[in-house]
Amino acid sequence: MIKRTLFITLIFLSTILSAIAQNYAIVIHGGAGVMSKEKMNEEARAEYKAKLNEALQLGEQLLKDGATATDVVVKVINVMENSPLFNAGKGAVFTHDGVNELDASIMEGKTMNAGAVAGVQDIKNPINAAREVMDNSEHVMLSGKGASEFAKQQGLEIVPNKYFYTERRYQSLQSLLKHERERTNKDNTGTVGCAVLDTHGNLCAGTSTGGMTNKKYGRIGDSPIIGAGTYANNKTCAISCTGHGEYYIRLGFARDISAMMEYQNLSVTDACRKEIDKLSELNGTGGVIAVDAKGNIAMEFNTSGMFRGYIKSNGEKEIAIFENE
Ligand code: ASP
Repeated sequence: MIKRTLFITLIFLSTILSAIAQNYAIVIHGGAGVMSKEKMNEEARAEYKAKLNEALQLGEQLLKDGATATDVVVKVINVMENSPLFNAGKGAVFTHDGVNELDASIMEGKTMNAGAVAGVQDIKNPINAAREVMDNSEHVMLSGKGASEFAKQQGLEIVPNKYFYTERRYQSLQSLLKHERERTNKDNTGTVGCAVLDTHGNLCAGTSTGGMTNKKYGRIGDSPIIGAGTYANNKTCAISCTGHGEYYIRLGFARDISAMMEYQNLSVTDACRKEIDKLSELNGTGGVIAVDAKGNIAMEFNTSGMFRGYIKSNGEKEIAIFENE
């Protein structure tokens, strides 16, 4: 009798353990900004949603196959970097001087290792370079020509700057140049990010961007700054941000969310909302995605839209663009 009870208990425990081990969650964003249903036609919406779906599906398959959160973040971001739709990789926005300068970062929650590149002009997939910095250098952030040289040494794909040319982003620059006095924060929408809980219980987050149209003087935003645009800690959550970078840097945005969870026991959603409120108080705009160590997802923003989506191992799934969608 005792043996039988023990046997049943063991089966019960192992079922629970394997269910916990299979727990995974992935959340992505493709940028926050001013978006309206009137200005974005059905076809454009469908195109964005299809690309977000492709990225999420790939991520979910990799997670089911037992891939690490880090591998998933890089591969999922690659899908969006290789699409002209987003302000990252191929579709990056133009600087004032008419070139494209890209930033990216990645952080692991288990080891708290991190890597980033800033202001690079010729690395096809900046998120891969950020990962190489994390895995194969003693540094956290490399910039400009040095970062490109390092990426080359690591065998990453290098492309001429004109690879990043897209007519849409070029025209955005031209229209800003005509109204030179206007701020730079227009039509930057499309920074990409991904946060993942893998089946091994580890978190990772990454962000990749072209920054802001018409940026000058080697301006760098929050996206490659660990603690501002990207953060991960297995004790709390993994976070990727999008929005007006200067505000995110001042707030220490991503790290602040993790700190609220760690020191004030806030849920991931409450912490993200609180941080977005702080952003609004400063008149900053943008959004954030996060996943906590249990697989809870947050997608918060104070703009009229944010390209976003998530999939969880319990079958929950969402892909959306506008507020209240
Ligand atoms: N955060 C990015 C930057 O400031 C831009 C964005 O996410 O839209 O460079």
